[in-house]
Amino acid sequence: MSEHRYCEVADLAEARSELDEIRHHLHKHPELSYEEADTSRFVAGKLESWGYEVTRHVGGHGVVASLKAGTSTRTVGVRADMDALPIQELTGLDYASVHQGKMHACGHDGHTAVLLGAARQLARTRNFDGTVHLIFQPAEEAGSDSGAERMIADGLFERFPCEAIFGLHNHPGMPTGTFGFRAGPLMAACDTVKLRVHGKGGHAARPHLAVDPVFVGSSIVMALQSVVSRNVDPNEAAVVTVGAFRSGHAPNVIPEDAVLEMSVRSFSPEVRATLEARIRALVQAQAQSYGATVDIEFIRGYPVLINSEAETGFARQVAEELVGPEHVIAPFPPIAGSEDFAYYLQQRPGCFVRLGNGEGRPMLHNARYDFNDENLTIGAAFWTRLVERFLSKDRA
Ligand SMILES: [Zn+2]
Ligand SMILES: [Zn+2]
Repeated sequence: MSEHRYCEVADLAEARSELDEIRHHLHKHPELSYEEADTSRFVAGKLESWGYEVTRHVGGHGVVASLKAGTSTRTVGVRADMDALPIQELTGLDYASVHQGKMHACGHDGHTAVLLGAARQLARTRNFDGTVHLIFQPAEEAGSDSGAERMIADGLFERFPCEAIFGLHNHPGMPTGTFGFRAGPLMAACDTVKLRVHGKGGHAARPHLAVDPVFVGSSIVMALQSVVSRNVDPNEAAVVTVGAFRSGHAPNVIPEDAVLEMSVRSFSPEVRATLEARIRALVQAQAQSYGATVDIEFIRGYPVLINSEAETGFARQVAEELVGPEHVIAPFPPIAGSEDFAYYLQQRPGCFVRLGNGEGRPMLHNARYDFNDENLTIGAAFWTRLVERFLSKDRA
């Protein structure tokens, strides 16, 4: 056993007012995906003032702050997201958004402030042996071609080698300061499919001379119900929802075409591939059987987020040491939402962590949502301790 002392939540108490100030500044000045210029500048400025080697414009407005202590060649990465959402804020807070129609409704202001809190603490104590890369990512909410993809494409892991990578998201409905962990698939892959059924328009009284795209589209909607019920293993979860069906404008006219849009979600790469293959085949066959043609646009969203076993166990252990096992939920149930942290986990082992934002508080993407400031010191202490433990001096 070692005598080594690692970060405790109490160590961050003196940082609380500064972290509140940082978080409220970010909250007041939200920027949408791909537009995080001021946020990025603000974050980089803080990190430079604390002695980090800061690299700006990684994959757009991304910032990577690196700090080396000791002599070890070991490395670890921790990521926070920085972007806001196109929502008109209704919180009435004194630090509410001053940007019309933009709001930090997913708590990325909090994630950024938490990681800045850890940055400040790690730079002060330097109680580790190795290199930490703190990754401040833009455009998580983009849905596709997101900040994670762009930072990786810009050479993130080649320029800033990370043995493992960690990230967190706040979780309304779970008690404040409680951590949730799940090894394996935690969050869903979310794909969008757009169909355009081409029929042959005509008079409602002469259907035999037309190809009715409303009828073909309806038939496709019904046929798609068999994908989850007949093609997916009952022990796996999947969703195929047709959320939009647009066609026609008059009762006595058979329209030319119909547009259908659907959301497709899954929790494993295998199920995801099955869903795509079956949807393509069914849609083509249905259209063909009625003499129609169809264009299929399959838009790949974020992949399944899969936490690695060892790193999830490690992160859970850090949380249990920090807040006690009674404030840790594991295994945490899978979440049908999606998250671009999944791309990092395709490249490196790691863990995406959920941190309770408090019970009875507004949900994510709600106009009354606010990040819970109690989590600023808890989250910052968690990242600090995780880095100290991962790059422990005792391992050398
Ligand atoms: Zn979000
Ligand atoms: Zn989010």
